[in-house]
Amino acid sequence: GQCANVCPVESITEVFEYRQVREAVQDKEKIVIVSTSPSVRASLGEEFGMEDGSFVEGRMVGLLKALGADYVLDTNFAADLTIMEEASELISRITEGSGPLPQFTSCCPAWVKFAETYYPEILPNISTAKSPIGMQGPTIKTYFAQKMGIDPERIVNVALTPCTAKKFEIRRDEMKAAGEYLGKEGIRDMDHVITTREAAMWAREEGIDFASVQPAEFDRLMGQGSGAGVIFGNTGGVMEAALRTAYEYITKEEAPSQLYELTPVRGMDGVKEASLLVGDMTVNVAVVYGTGNVRRVIESVKSGEKNYHFIEVMTCPGGCIGGGGQPKDKNFQGDVLRYKRIASLYNRDRTMKVRKSHENEEILALYKEFYGKPLSGLAEKMLHTVYQDRSADLG
Ligand code: SF4
Repeated sequence: GQCANVCPVESITEVFEYRQVREAVQDKEKIVIVSTSPSVRASLGEEFGMEDGSFVEGRMVGLLKALGADYVLDTNFAADLTIMEEASELISRITEGSGPLPQFTSCCPAWVKFAETYYPEILPNISTAKSPIGMQGPTIKTYFAQKMGIDPERIVNVALTPCTAKKFEIRRDEMKAAGEYLGKEGIRDMDHVITTREAAMWAREEGIDFASVQPAEFDRLMGQGSGAGVIFGNTGGVMEAALRTAYEYITKEEAPSQLYELTPVRGMDGVKEASLLVGDMTVNVAVVYGTGNVRRVIESVKSGEKNYHFIEVMTCPGGCIGGGGQPKDKNFQGDVLRYKRIASLYNRDRTMKVRKSHENEEILALYKEFYGKPLSGLAEKMLHTVYQDRSADLG
């Protein structure tokens, strides 16, 4: 893939995981629930000859239904959930000193593994919040299953993602929070990850003509995402989304218009910085992609040269829109193609009514009915994780 040269995760052997998902779809005992990551809707059309960066959300949902998914939910919903937990964690680090600063984002599994291998000393700085997929999985098998009256043991959770490293993430030992909650050992939080390219391959094998697929809507309870959730796919998007919520939590005031187009953290520069006045405090943030850039930023933090509160790290160029499971850059357009996908997600955010994670009604209902509040005991158990020092792997 495009990030094969930087991606520390070997998952080549699992490239055809969609075949296992197809088997699950054919098994009448199984209930297949597919959750879709933000970036896929900005690139899937390219596999079928549509214009680069076409926004194909409805058709993507329709395709998954046509392929036999019982429910199609939105990982953008879980991106909002990640923001709720991660912004709350940041605030508690800043105001209560509950952990070291800067806080690093945790939603890119290739970055997390890179840190575990090369910079184990900064693991306490990485947000303990699981990634959106890491939160979507256990929440489906508990809250969603309960509300819908589905036996969680029948659920096959599938994440459709731009990312090959997610195949490793869902198989991490600790990703079994739902099983622990339910007292059922065999239950994994997320059962399969398939990439954008795999979904297209599967559709072609079934002879489905994407252009004539009837657009459909996400199923409800966990199918609604805010504008903050959709921009997760872009480098800088997680930062912008988190600041919209953190700002309002800290100041109890409406986030300024600047936070709806945070230009300094948008675009394809490998390292971007911004300083933002939040109440009477200046919050310094950085947004980075690519492991080479990350090394430089970590060194500048360790040497004391830089003083950040929050750092977003993605491995792939441009963030997840440039992920290793995305459609190939057939015409070698590089950043030109990435910019088109990036624009597709920002355009979507711009036209949405709800653009802040903490105003997503499905998220509010989830906390009211299940998790209580961000960082609650149950939220910590289900939505947060631990990291391991893997430096010994270096030998
Ligand atoms: Fe996966 Fe996104 Fe990280 Fe790339 S940047 S490895 S697509 S999570």
